[in-house]
Amino acid sequence: MPKFHFLATDGMTKIDGHKYPHCDTPIIKYDPDKVYIQAVDNKGLPLSEMVKVNDTVCVGTVLGIRNDFNLPVYSSVSGKVVAIEKKTSTTVGRLVDHFVIENDKKYTKVNLPKLTSRTKEAVVDLLKKGSIVGLGGAGFPTFIKYNVKPGTVIDTILVNAVECEPYLTTDYVEGARSVNDMFYALPILMEIVEAKQAIIACKENKKHLIDAIKNAINEHKEVNAKLVLVKDRYPMGFERTLIREVLKREYEVLPSECHVIENNIQTLEAAGRLFRDGEVITRRVITIAGEAVATPNNYDVPVGTMLNDIVVNNGGYSCEEVKVINGGPMCGKAVLTTEIPVLLQTGGFTILHRYDIKAEPCWKCGACVDHCPMGLQPVQIQMAINRGDVERCHDLQVEKCVECGLCSFVCPSHIDVSANVSKAKLMARLKFKPGVKSQKEEQREKIKASLQKFKDLFKKKTPEEKKLIEEKKKEAKEAKLRSKQQKQEVKQTEKEGN
Ligand code: SF4
Ligand code: SF4
Repeated sequence: MPKFHFLATDGMTKIDGHKYPHCDTPIIKYDPDKVYIQAVDNKGLPLSEMVKVNDTVCVGTVLGIRNDFNLPVYSSVSGKVVAIEKKTSTTVGRLVDHFVIENDKKYTKVNLPKLTSRTKEAVVDLLKKGSIVGLGGAGFPTFIKYNVKPGTVIDTILVNAVECEPYLTTDYVEGARSVNDMFYALPILMEIVEAKQAIIACKENKKHLIDAIKNAINEHKEVNAKLVLVKDRYPMGFERTLIREVLKREYEVLPSECHVIENNIQTLEAAGRLFRDGEVITRRVITIAGEAVATPNNYDVPVGTMLNDIVVNNGGYSCEEVKVINGGPMCGKAVLTTEIPVLLQTGGFTILHRYDIKAEPCWKCGACVDHCPMGLQPVQIQMAINRGDVERCHDLQVEKCVECGLCSFVCPSHIDVSANVSKAKLMARLKFKPGVKSQKEEQREKIKASLQKFKDLFKKKTPEEKKLIEEKKKEAKEAKLRSKQQKQEVKQTEKEGN
């Protein structure tokens, strides 16, 4: 159990969502002339079994295999591979090779075989072949979550339809549009992990999505699914905060430790289409919003579409100097170009006016501590990492940080506290494996254990013995006080002598 600071907001900070009006306008379908699909995995290593320049591809043709998780990378359009070019990758963080595919706009498609067997092996294998990853932004392979170790008890699949990040509304619009696909996947996934229930968590103010989920639950009464409404607070949609809010459970490293698998709503919808039709993810609905775009909206685009291409062909930018954030403004990462292709896990882009604010020194106001949903002390962690004390960061439980960005958001000195905490988290993870204790932690535990031992021994004493011990303790305390006073008197005399 993490230690909570007594002022921690526990995921209950109200921030402006900036979700209107684009959450209520129709999704715009956009088909680019070219798509750019990453030819390397998330570690930057080239894909294996890659197609070549001049090869003809269909929607669903395997372009190569990722080496990190052995997941296939699929073409999102039909047409021809015309080049391999360097483009910015938001996962690798630098320029890497991308397949450039000319879109013939015919969308000739090849699907995978549908799911025919409901065994765990068959389902996990199809999730892997279908390259289903977390569509809430993390991009973590879904097959790993469902390939639970024997003996692990999973009682709940928690569907995350909260989308607490400001500006982004893709789960809201696409989640509602394809909710029935999720109900195709849910019973299959519940069966393979023997989960008793599915809980769909949604914000209480997302009326359209709530109605869609309620209708789907009524239509699929055979699935033990229920809707739980949560408050419009940030960061309610993070795995840890949501599990705590909905199920009142905590975990150290993985939600399976507290018998939960958590998935984004769109991930399960994609899994449903894969199981039912053999369809892999080749299109995404993404939000492009923020004060620096002329028409904030949700766009249905093939994976690999360039951000700049979408914006320029749909109203353009509203100013010259823009700041592009991959994702939402709270935990998204700023990128220095608009030439970024849409990835499988892209939920959207926030485009704001570019302005630079100079950070001032920390004045120890404690706002970052008050607002941290994990009960951490970001200011202390920041000070520790600035002096290179990784052990202290570990002691302060930096590994519990969910990287929500709230500490930076509330800092009146405009310090990017969360960036410092993220750095500390990375360094602590490298130094301390999960479950490994720091020296200070071990010392504390030893002291705690010896105190406990003393308390247990004390309980076993007779009333007379207890009285004697209390008297001795009192005497020792008085002697300590006397010696302290004597020392002070000596010091005082020395001072006066000088
Ligand atoms: S919010 Fe900023 S100024 Fe206040 S204690 Fe935290 S780091 Fe310091
Ligand atoms: S980024 Fe980490 S330290 Fe900062 S508020 Fe969020 S959980 Fe707390």
